[in-house]
Amino acid sequence: KLQGKTALVTGSTSGIGLGLASSLAAAGAHVILNGFGDIERAKDHIASVGQAPGYHAADLSDPQQIGDMMDYVNREFGGADILVNNAGIQHVAKVEVFPPEQWDAILAINLSSVFHTSRLALPGMRERGWGRIINVASVHGLVASKEKAAYVAAKHGVIGLTKTIALETARTAITCNAICPGWVLTPLVQQQIDRRIAAGIDPQQAQDDLLAEKQPSQAFVTPEQLGELALFLCSDAAVQVRGAAWNMDGGWLAQ
Ligand code: NAD
Repeated sequence: KLQGKTALVTGSTSGIGLGLASSLAAAGAHVILNGFGDIERAKDHIASVGQAPGYHAADLSDPQQIGDMMDYVNREFGGADILVNNAGIQHVAKVEVFPPEQWDAILAINLSSVFHTSRLALPGMRERGWGRIINVASVHGLVASKEKAAYVAAKHGVIGLTKTIALETARTAITCNAICPGWVLTPLVQQQIDRRIAAGIDPQQAQDDLLAEKQPSQAFVTPEQLGELALFLCSDAAVQVRGAAWNMDGGWLAQ
């Protein structure tokens, strides 16, 4: 279905990003990976479900490196037809003790990078007359939780930016939407479970408690399920889905 399309997925060496990249690759897209950690494992995984991927190591907290990554995508792949802004980090602390450098890093990676990749991808999408921008926001783009000031602020910002881009592209075949997952069991969430385990709670109980506080289904959302949603947003049927903040959250936002 996505044969001939290229898809840049930021933060795609692990978790949700790797899951979304796999779904796009399995549907025929030529995927470009980005992120840190076990890059070879991520590349091998994508090559096992689709075409061998590209990779760029840009640190998305740095606009200069984002520029280099977008140049690489234009030069080597003819530009990104599908841009998935997924990279994100978390820090949990009350506002009055929230480290300002963590605030800056979260705003840079979770919000400003979405502006930079989008502003650099849009001219090519307009030229080619087709594009999909999918921003991985969060339920925290629509509601808050305590101790996540920077993350909640950044994700609310991502949804605002999504709507603006959707309006600016409304008369084209380029769409821009946000997806808003609830809890997905990835390294980012495992860190938060580990904090509970460190406080003396049994590992299974720690997972159950985390879900029970927010996610009525009492089950994690999976990267594969989010991948199916991303594929729908890439389809022709979704061309009038514009500026949406689409939750997949086990009922989190229904409460
Ligand atoms: P993860 O920690 O498993 O993956 C994060 C990815 O981002 C990794 O590939 C990492 O290498 C990359 N990354 C981190 N900092 C980077 C930087 N400076 N430059 C480039 N890449 C960087 O996390 P995840 O849970 O898969 O999260 C992915 C996205 O989904 C994030 O935007 C997160 O906010 C969002 N999200 C996650 C959940 C959840 O429950 N896990 C829920 C809602 C939204």
